[in-house]
Amino acid sequence: MPTSQARAYAVQNASSPLARSDIHRREPGSLDVEMEILFCGVCHSDIHQARNEWHNTVYPCVPGHEIIGRVTRVGPQVTRFKTGDVGAVGCMVDSCRTCPSCQAGLEQYCHSFPIFTYNGQDKHLGGPTFGGYSSSIVVDEAFVLRVPAGMDLAATAPLLCAGITTYSPLRHWKVGPGQKVGIVGLGGLGHMGVKFARAFGAHVVLFTTSPGKIADGLRLGAHEVVVSKDAAAMAKQQSSFDFILDAVSAQHDINAYLSLLKLDGTLTLVGAPEQPLPVAVFNLLLPRRNFAGSAIGGIAETQEMLDFCAAHKITSDIELIPIQKIQEAWDRMLKQDVRYRFVIDMASLKN
Ligand code: NAP
Ligand code: ZN
Ligand code: ZN
Repeated sequence: MPTSQARAYAVQNASSPLARSDIHRREPGSLDVEMEILFCGVCHSDIHQARNEWHNTVYPCVPGHEIIGRVTRVGPQVTRFKTGDVGAVGCMVDSCRTCPSCQAGLEQYCHSFPIFTYNGQDKHLGGPTFGGYSSSIVVDEAFVLRVPAGMDLAATAPLLCAGITTYSPLRHWKVGPGQKVGIVGLGGLGHMGVKFARAFGAHVVLFTTSPGKIADGLRLGAHEVVVSKDAAAMAKQQSSFDFILDAVSAQHDINAYLSLLKLDGTLTLVGAPEQPLPVAVFNLLLPRRNFAGSAIGGIAETQEMLDFCAAHKITSDIELIPIQKIQEAWDRMLKQDVRYRFVIDMASLKN
């Protein structure tokens, strides 16, 4: 199959640094959109995956699944994009499209597993798929999103993962007016969770381990901020929440949050730490409580989220970095020092 070369940043094994390397992209097929990547957000999943914390990484690994690009070529049967358009790609580049989940627009739960944007199985070229820490990408138009006109492109990139991953569960569990909703962890996902829960009309309480983020939490839309290390402040919140979204990237005491749910309340995990999180079952039994999880969102819902963000003037709060600073950005994320999403300016990947 004909290919063209693209520039990228890759890790070669679980402990190697991200370094400049070359990859191949397929020539656009009849339904493919080729894009020059303009911006790519930096998700904590990039770190988990590069460091093999989920024990399934295929190397070399080129992370990045919050992609905004400029269309450079389209295949002859592409109808929704033309050269020069802006397009976006999130965590998936394909799925089986025929199973009940795909038919229901829930491609992220494809029975044959979706093809993830990186560390997926590249059915065209073989080997792993390569993500957005690169100069270009080729994706079937069915998995390319439209960016509404007028949006700040760099600040829109994180919506493709951090945005949809928080929007989807808040919608699924019907968060809205009259409800008390908790968001745990003020990072990339958490800060979008705060913005969406507020936009949906809930009473929003942010839980953070970082006292230095209190003012930002309020500015981003939380009605209350609780520092989770403060036992007295946590005790005041017992059994009072309808819904809690946990977006923490590392080990933490999940029972402290389960006990904040009221009868029939739900705690949904979107954070994906490496190790299991032990649950004290009596926290679920009395009073009857739900413990759930959620992964990204389907393609139609991702488009709905982008359109919602355009209508409500929502984007991410970002720190724009050249790709040469990516290792520093990862180190800062591991120290909970992200405000609140790093986005790579791909113009920096010149050679
Ligand atoms: P992030 O920007 O690094 O934010 C994570 C936040 O978690 C931190 O800012 C911090 O918030 C809190 N935190 C970190 N370490 C902690 C610890 N030891 N104890 C308590 N809190 C801690 O990460 P992200 O990109 O938002 O991703 C968050 C998680 O979601 C990751 O595990 C990622 O892989 C996962 N994820 C899942 C999906 C999905 O589909 N379900 C999609 C994307 C990402 P405070 O400083 O406020 O405490
Ligand atoms: Zn992500
Ligand atoms: Zn499927």
